[in-house]
Amino acid sequence: MMQSSGVALVTGASRGIGRATACELGRRGYAVAVNYVGDEQGASETVERIVAEGSRAMAFRADVSSHDGARDLVEAVEKAMGPLEALVLNAGITRDGLLARMSEEDWDRVIDVNLKGVYNVLKWGSRSMMRRKSGRIVAVSSVVALTGNVGQANYCASKAGVIGLVRASARELSRYGITVNVVAPGFIDTDMTGALTGEVRDRLTAAIPLGRMGTPEDVAKAIAFLLSPDASYITGEVLRVDGGMSIGAHT
Ligand code: NAD
Repeated sequence: MMQSSGVALVTGASRGIGRATACELGRRGYAVAVNYVGDEQGASETVERIVAEGSRAMAFRADVSSHDGARDLVEAVEKAMGPLEALVLNAGITRDGLLARMSEEDWDRVIDVNLKGVYNVLKWGSRSMMRRKSGRIVAVSSVVALTGNVGQANYCASKAGVIGLVRASARELSRYGITVNVVAPGFIDTDMTGALTGEVRDRLTAAIPLGRMGTPEDVAKAIAFLLSPDASYITGEVLRVDGGMSIGAHT
């Protein structure tokens, strides 16, 4: 397995895909900065798992939707752990509802966390990488950015925005030797999808060519690949991790 001594920051790593990614990066030799916003216990558990498997990890509280908070987060991570080598922009939320009934507050909050949150941490994190002329960045979007989804106008818009943001940044940062890519998960078994009823889960699973929901580890491994030297000639790409759910959708 590839080894690295660099520092990786994973946003929203107190559970789900973020936690699985933080653990996978720990196993690959990164020192991992585990960002969380409210769930201190979840973040501590992620840290404990990484440390138990022999790598270094620390938890950092920050709301990614805050511009200054994201700057302070990056500063705190680099002060405590060293220069950032990898950045995983994973933190995200849903506030579902049909467009005609969607409140302005639900629209704004999803855009603030999912899209502005990626801009915030990408901006401050990439500044440090630019000075050192190296770095790897992956943002977590969703296949619904490509396909659309009923009841998720705010979420689909935020995740499609992430793809545009990544493509622009990939062009800007290429001259510094920094790659920026997107992972677009399909239907993954986490707390985010845990609230769905059995019937909805069955219907969604039936639409997946590989016949099962994804696991957080499925997504974590794709992220780890895009951060690895094996992916050094890939930038501005959207890698779908969805069991074939969105075959045919345009990237
Ligand atoms: P989750 O709800 O289990 O985890 C989301 C994480 O983000 C949590 O740790 C949460 O505390 C954190 N977070 C939320 N708001 C934050 C903020 N303002 N600042 C910092 N952290 C914040 O969800 P998940 O399923 O693990 O999702 C992870 C990412 O993958 C999200 O961006 C989500 O949109 C995306 N995604 C998930 C699925 C799926 O099926 N689960 C599919 C496609 C994309």
